[in-house]
Amino acid sequence: MGENFINREYIEKLLEDAKCADTAVISRALDKAENGEALSHSDVAALLATDNSGHIKRIFEIAGKIKKRIYGNRIVMFAPLYVSDYCVNRCAYCSFNNGHDFERNKLTMDDIRQEVKILEMMGHKRLAIEAGEHEGQCPIDYILECIKTIYDMKFENGEIRRVNVNIAATTTENYRKLKEAKIGTYILFQETYHEPTYDKVHLSGPKKDFDWHLNAFDRAQDAGIDDVGGGVLFGLYDPYFEVMGLLLHNEHLEKKYNTGFHTISVPRICPAAGMKIEGFPHLVDDDTFMKIVAIIRIAVPFTGMILSTRESHDMRKKLLQLGISQISAGSSTETGGYAKQNKKTTPQFFVNDDRSAIDIISELMDDGYIPSFCTACYRGGRTGDRFMSLAKSGQIGNVCLPNALMTLCEYSMDYGDDAFRKKSDALIEKEIPHIANETIRQKTIENVQKIRSGEGRDFFV
Ligand code: SF4
Ligand code: SF4
Repeated sequence: MGENFINREYIEKLLEDAKCADTAVISRALDKAENGEALSHSDVAALLATDNSGHIKRIFEIAGKIKKRIYGNRIVMFAPLYVSDYCVNRCAYCSFNNGHDFERNKLTMDDIRQEVKILEMMGHKRLAIEAGEHEGQCPIDYILECIKTIYDMKFENGEIRRVNVNIAATTTENYRKLKEAKIGTYILFQETYHEPTYDKVHLSGPKKDFDWHLNAFDRAQDAGIDDVGGGVLFGLYDPYFEVMGLLLHNEHLEKKYNTGFHTISVPRICPAAGMKIEGFPHLVDDDTFMKIVAIIRIAVPFTGMILSTRESHDMRKKLLQLGISQISAGSSTETGGYAKQNKKTTPQFFVNDDRSAIDIISELMDDGYIPSFCTACYRGGRTGDRFMSLAKSGQIGNVCLPNALMTLCEYSMDYGDDAFRKKSDALIEKEIPHIANETIRQKTIENVQKIRSGEGRDFFV
């Protein structure tokens, strides 16, 4: 049995005490955040507790400034790839749950090639494999074969350069195999850190074991996977409890492995076939959700924050300003959903932002963002604490910005029309002078020229 580092009574007391936090306490916490000082648990709890509009305005401003300082205006793009929806678990919030009767699918390697071809045609370079838990239909060897198939594919415009994996909690031995298969981030959502709720919403199956699930990242780290991505499903329990749970989990990993979450995802429960959203008593409204995203940004400035197409176009726009650094685009949440191939498929959840990838990317540029297809850290071996020390030194901008601009240039040459190229070229020209390091700036100028003239590509810092 693994360690339970989520002290429920401690979190409950923090949240209870925070209800009495006065303006002076909250202002002090905000001043600390503004000065780049680490926040204590009670500081974060106090920020979560406030509903004073002045405080919330300041939380948003500080989160926006932190986002700008660390991530600039870059937004990393990715897409999910569902490979199997067979699942032995009965998670009350998911349409793939074992009690839901629908026609299930598992992709063959040929199917995977079809899906990846379409994703590549959208310009994606970074995928996240998604699968239900089913030892018979979807054993680890199948996942390894999927990863190999994806990495082996080469296209005229390059290849998928990073495969993240979001599969059920597994053994150290299996994590070792995933590490050997060269996965990017291992992603696993705790769903809820509140054990009684966890027990209630996980009706049956191996996932019902809270400790096994909670300690999955320890096993992954023990196996050498040092990029792990956490998250909760907001709406299952008190969102403030969940934020504190995320922070405790992150601190546990930092203490034990010297590296916390590489990313935090913030999915909010949304309608899906075979479940009734009305049955969940802790649904999070938009205002609270925005506050939560901003507070996570403030509390863990160096952890990337991921938002999926569960959220609407409008909400995604708002959250990008408050801390989100990575979004999916053009997503399908169905197994075989990109190629369809006349199969009957069921989504894990209904996509809210259903715009095409290029529309999303184009609008990001209109809004002043730089869509980035960068996978450089993974490719250059900058993972785990090597990544974190670069991020914390403030030098990360010197690599992220040139990489974002070079990958955007590739994207525009490969997938953009004249109007798109004109827009991205103008953005690239405007941003290049912001590369602080003179040598890297000159190199970026040269590389962008090479990409445009077709003399070379696939550059990264
Ligand atoms: Fe299965 Fe994952 Fe859905 Fe649970 S959340 S039913 S484990 S696919
Ligand atoms: Fe991410 Fe590293 Fe690329 Fe920056 S340089 S966008 S941190 S992969």
